[in-house]
Amino acid sequence: MGEPSASGADAPVVGVAGAAAGAATGSPILAIDLGATRLRAALVGSDGAVLARAEELSATDRGPAALLDLAERLIRAVSRTTERNPGDALVSPGALPAAPVAIGISAIGPVDPVAGVILDPPNAPALRDVPIAPELERRLGLPAFLDRDTNVALLGEHAFGAARGVADVVYLTVSTGIGGAVLAGGALFHGPDGTAGELGHLLVELDGPPCGCGARGHLEAIASGAGIARAAREAVRAGGGGLLAAAVDRDGIGRLSAVDVAAAEEAGDAAAAAIMEHARRAFAAALVVVADVFDPTLVVVGGSVARGQGDRLLDPAREAVRSAAFRAPGRRLSIVPAALGDDVCLVGCLPLVRERLAVTAAVRAETRA
Ligand SMILES: [Zn+2]
Repeated sequence: MGEPSASGADAPVVGVAGAAAGAATGSPILAIDLGATRLRAALVGSDGAVLARAEELSATDRGPAALLDLAERLIRAVSRTTERNPGDALVSPGALPAAPVAIGISAIGPVDPVAGVILDPPNAPALRDVPIAPELERRLGLPAFLDRDTNVALLGEHAFGAARGVADVVYLTVSTGIGGAVLAGGALFHGPDGTAGELGHLLVELDGPPCGCGARGHLEAIASGAGIARAAREAVRAGGGGLLAAAVDRDGIGRLSAVDVAAAEEAGDAAAAAIMEHARRAFAAALVVVADVFDPTLVVVGGSVARGQGDRLLDPAREAVRSAAFRAPGRRLSIVPAALGDDVCLVGCLPLVRERLAVTAAVRAETRA
């Protein structure tokens, strides 16, 4: 961890040698990654290595109490690694970490990062107003800090991945949905509602297809895995034949996925190619907006659909940015794939915790002064 940032752990915390400030640099942390389907917990070392992990289906439909119980149980399971015989642990003998100092929580948005509350995730309606950070703090006796999964992923890529040392970065994840996050001058950009950087809901096509959020023509409605699958179902229902119809005959219309559409395009199916092309154009249009609005040095693109498409998705976006974005950012901007895989939100909890502990220590110092 070398890059200084506006509120990073390496920034001097004026007048403070308190526990929080000291703990911010060398100690492991506990991490929670709450997705729509999986809840994962990990012990993350001070170098970003995952030292122990536990995972269960997140059962988000069972409501807040069940979720909090599960999170507590998984956190207790991974934190026992520090007490166990080194032979049991995923840690080399002699390298057993010190006790973890805090809990970082990455969760599906929207969230209130200051209050530590999950607000009203459209993909998990049963989780309304869940005070996950204060509640885990109370149950486990450690400070706990929450942010939206895409913000945490961006912090992870910034600390250990594709955006190391870069202060102005936009992160996009293209999978079932599309999420985003913005790092400006080394600091996450939250906005007063904590929802800044929700780039999946950029408007790319007036009167375009309906989005999960209720509006129309958003990037996510066209270029996400769910958007691609919906367009394919519509094409089949409208009587389109070809490989998409064959996939529906085989697996049923409900199972038609973006992976099927991409495979059909690979195999030369014209309807599938049109749908994928529409998705790539929408993504490219969004990247032009991103370049003009945020003037980032780097755009990092993660997520399963982006991984599957690779340069097929990124190249048209690079070209569109060069030809249609404002000249200076358009010429300079790099668009690269994410470097961290599935663990990005667990690993990103480390810089999240470091930043927040440093801020907490600075506020305490100011109050004392
Ligand atoms: Zn939307």
